[in-house]
Amino acid sequence: MSEPLVVIGNGMAAARLVDEIAKRALGRYAVAVIGEEPRLAYNRVLLSSLLADEVAAADVELKPARWWRDRGVTLRYGAPAVAVDVVARTVTLADRTVLGFSKAVFATGSRPIRLGLPGRELPGVMTFRDIGDVDAIRARAAAGTRVVVIGGGLLGLEAAHGLAKAGARVTLVHLMDRLMERQLDDVAAGMLRRAVEARGVEVLLGAETARIAGSQRVEAVELRDGRSLPADLVVMAVGIRPNAELAAAAGVCVNRGIVVDDGLATSAEGLFAIGECAEHRGQCYGLVEPAYEQAAVLARRLAGGPARYPGTVLATNLKVSGVDVFSAGDFLGQPGAEQIVLHDPGLGVYRKFVIAQDRLIGAVLYGDTTDALWYLELIRSGEPIGRLRDDLAFGRALAMRAAA
Ligand SMILES: Cc1cc2nc3c(=O)[nH]c(=O)nc-3n(C[C@H](O)[C@H](O)[C@H](O)COP(=O)(O)OP(=O)(O)OC[C@H]3O[C@@H](n4cnc5c(N)ncnc54)[C@H](O)[C@@H]3O)c2cc1C
Repeated sequence: MSEPLVVIGNGMAAARLVDEIAKRALGRYAVAVIGEEPRLAYNRVLLSSLLADEVAAADVELKPARWWRDRGVTLRYGAPAVAVDVVARTVTLADRTVLGFSKAVFATGSRPIRLGLPGRELPGVMTFRDIGDVDAIRARAAAGTRVVVIGGGLLGLEAAHGLAKAGARVTLVHLMDRLMERQLDDVAAGMLRRAVEARGVEVLLGAETARIAGSQRVEAVELRDGRSLPADLVVMAVGIRPNAELAAAAGVCVNRGIVVDDGLATSAEGLFAIGECAEHRGQCYGLVEPAYEQAAVLARRLAGGPARYPGTVLATNLKVSGVDVFSAGDFLGQPGAEQIVLHDPGLGVYRKFVIAQDRLIGAVLYGDTTDALWYLELIRSGEPIGRLRDDLAFGRALAMRAAA
């Protein structure tokens, strides 16, 4: 008889896990997937493109209903799991359905952080995480709407770009002295700022939000330095927090996220966690690739194999049309690391490579990201780059030809 396996969360990690299990251990498990959102799993990464009107709503769905049916998966969406009993081996949903399990997987993702500012509950203050948010933002953002986006990371930039494209007057407020400071150095961040401004987004750096003002609804964002920015809509994009409360309430060990070992197992027997809700070796990831790698490893283990998840070297691509940005690994360089920099301001191209002990450990590419995956592979593999080094900055074709 099939073993009951319950996956809590119906996002990108869950969909990939089911796909991998179906390939490796179809029939071994009776899989049920529980999703809080009232829809099939979708590609959250594409929400920025949906907001910018670059893809249609139908294009973001990951798998059609038939795909799930064909794999014998019981899908329950629209009601969150509200309790997990690790002794009785049950998951209870908000609609009081109780599902028994032999094994269970937390794949509950993250939620956006809302800054604890005065005025944060005013109508018109939004976050950007799910399809519901995109619908709500779009419903309020017409041509000429004044929008303040708080946060100059990947999400804030993509939201600002999408809204500016829709004709809104967008100001992006960022606390730090450069955009995407966790992925870009000063030079690349400066180029990005100019490109974003050229697309109609006003960028304020070193700007700390003090409060959101308004009587019935949001009217302005007030900065610590006294400036007041008129706003009909505020989008907070200041980071995410893992959804780990359900696991914590079940007695599972939780730190920032749900703590897992290299086998993606939590502290509770037969319970696992993958994706943004998981904390592995002290790290909670906020990108989809680690979630996919974790899903593949967990599926192999659930199929009886010995797979291990060693962690992921992160790489980031910004999805602002016409602005190509890539960053991976240690892009600033630890003490003692060397740097190769190629900068052509006229062409708007910047490439920086950080090298330590004859290995590429980080890279930033701005303006031309054609060979990003090759550089990422060099970083991940840790192979010596001595023979490529002279031409490394000029791209794969040249470097490989010279090394041959
Ligand atoms: C606008 C945007 C753009 C992004 N762009 C990129 C990008 O370019 N590159 C990149 O790598 N990543 C990007 N990301 C991040 C990426 O989407 C996430 O890393 C990925 O979705 C993580 O997958 P997950 O399954 O862990 O979480 P999610 O996809 O968030 O899925 C978790 C699901 O679990 C559900 N859930 C939570 N609690 C419960 C409960 N108690 N019961 C039932 N269901 C529950 C949630 O509602 C959600 O549907 C972007 C994210 C956003 C919002």
